[in-house]
Amino acid sequence: MMDAGTQPNCAICNAPAYPECPCESERLQIAVKQAEQRAMDEKLAQTRDWVIEHARQHILNQFKQLTSTRTAAHAAYLNSLPNYSIYMQYSGHPPIHPMYVDNLQRQIAEAHAELKRGIDADWRASVLRYPEVLDYFYGLVELRLPSDRSPRVVEPPFAAAGYRDSGFMDHSRLGKEKKKKRRDSVSMPRDMHAVVGRVMRGPPPAVPTPPIGGGFSRPPAMYQ
Ligand SMILES: [Zn+2]
Repeated sequence: MMDAGTQPNCAICNAPAYPECPCESERLQIAVKQAEQRAMDEKLAQTRDWVIEHARQHILNQFKQLTSTRTAAHAAYLNSLPNYSIYMQYSGHPPIHPMYVDNLQRQIAEAHAELKRGIDADWRASVLRYPEVLDYFYGLVELRLPSDRSPRVVEPPFAAAGYRDSGFMDHSRLGKEKKKKRRDSVSMPRDMHAVVGRVMRGPPPAVPTPPIGGGFSRPPAMYQ
């Protein structure tokens, strides 16, 4: 194991590495939360819009299918009623005995009420499927993490700057200029860059690089 004296002091309060103070861990949590918001909020909103749009479209299509079948059956039933065609032909005033007209009107009213009840039931049944349909479309969304051996993971662009804080700063400033809408969300205090940079890369190069398992044992503890 490595001598505690070669471990860098806390980047926030400058206390020695041991016993470990909570500063860096706390700042890292804040930085992670902010980075997650910058990286994920928009994607999550896009995903949500996509899922809602497709779920809604599916529910609506199913409902239309149910109601068109129901409406066709309703029309067929009306056409099968005695005197219906002559009733329609004379716009509700057919030259037949009023008793037949009353009877037919009652049957038509009942059929319409039945159709309305059926359509309400179809809509209710369709809407109640939302949780299942939302699950389905969310299930189609893929979250893909790059391979640990991907060059972009092993050698991120800011590594080319020689693992200096300024290199990281330049990179993040570049990102700000490119994406103006992110301007407001970038609110890390200046020393955060040092913390994040340190956590990502381990001890600064000025410290003799220990064998694996020594100097890198502290930063992962911040995730606890
Ligand atoms: Zn501290």
